[in-house]
Amino acid sequence: SKKIRIGIVGYGNLGRGVETAVKKTPDIELVAVFTRRDPAAVKTNDPNVRVFHVDDAVKYTDKIDVMILCGGSSSDLPKQGPEFLKLFNTVDSFDTHAKIPEYFETMDAVAKSSKKIGIISVGWDPGLFSMNRMLTEAILPDGVGYTFWGKGVSQGHSDAIRRVEGVKNGVQYTIPKEEALEKVRAGLWPELSNRDKHLRECFVVAEEGADKEKIENEIKSMPNYFSDYETVVHFISEEELKKNHSAMPHGGRVIHTAVTGEGNKQIVEFSIKLDSNPEFTSSILVAYARAAYTMYNEGHIGAKTVFDVPLSYLSYKPAAQLRKELL
Ligand code: NDP
Repeated sequence: SKKIRIGIVGYGNLGRGVETAVKKTPDIELVAVFTRRDPAAVKTNDPNVRVFHVDDAVKYTDKIDVMILCGGSSSDLPKQGPEFLKLFNTVDSFDTHAKIPEYFETMDAVAKSSKKIGIISVGWDPGLFSMNRMLTEAILPDGVGYTFWGKGVSQGHSDAIRRVEGVKNGVQYTIPKEEALEKVRAGLWPELSNRDKHLRECFVVAEEGADKEKIENEIKSMPNYFSDYETVVHFISEEELKKNHSAMPHGGRVIHTAVTGEGNKQIVEFSIKLDSNPEFTSSILVAYARAAYTMYNEGHIGAKTVFDVPLSYLSYKPAAQLRKELL
């Protein structure tokens, strides 16, 4: 039968991840990549993939079923989300937590007038982690949920380090604290501040002659990013950074600890350990593109989140097959 035709908007880490994730699916094909840069200058992993300028996307409205938007959350998606949803069904990974309700409203209004579907904020957090928090809280309301991130590279914190004067390059790892995890898993319902839950470890390449003590103090006292955390700073060479800190691993866990009946503890944990954060996130985006296609063909329009998508729609297997595999 006919494959679901997708397009990629924006060719960064997630864009590349979508390209590779599609190859692992039996039912989806990549039609083209769309970029704001000169298409000739964007080299795809698979040289056979076609690359066009975003302004030409309008010519592909009848050739693409779902556009996967792979732009950054801070400035790309607020603009590209509504623009592309006017023309295509979309899936994106908008992850600016505080602005999700506002983004949803904007996308919903666009989708209702263009009669398309736009699944927003897909990924692992927000995304799979949100689903797990919601599921366990719905089942076990008398409880407390905890989310731990890491060990993994935080792009935002790495960018913040690189903006410090005298810093040539840098990478930041978010690391969950074992003591905190143990208390949570034991069902002690600890009250945990950010500082109690996570450690921040920075690997920094300083410029020639830069004052390392000043750099370290400036990083550790940076508000929002580091001042509320225990932060460790290591100075290393550029070669060492390239060799040991170029990958984008990540991970994390959602733990719900609750009681039922006469005080029986019920502890549920969902965890992930990733060699490549972008390739994992992209694989989720691709599964949701399949769901967007099915929901759209059933007449659903508007903005949706992971909470609104039936689980079976993510699978390439028919519903009857999934029922056989229930147990
Ligand atoms: P990138 O910075 O790699 O890419 C963002 C955009 O930048 C691309 O779409 C691309 O657009 C442009 N770009 C990429 N490379 C270059 C380059 N060499 N020169 C110029 N422009 C370039 O971001 P990521 O793909 O890593 O992440 C995208 C978003 O995904 C993040 O902002 C984050 O919010 C979200 N995310 C969400 C997760 C979740 O769990 N929900 C997990 C991980 C990420 P163009 O081709 O048009 O130039």
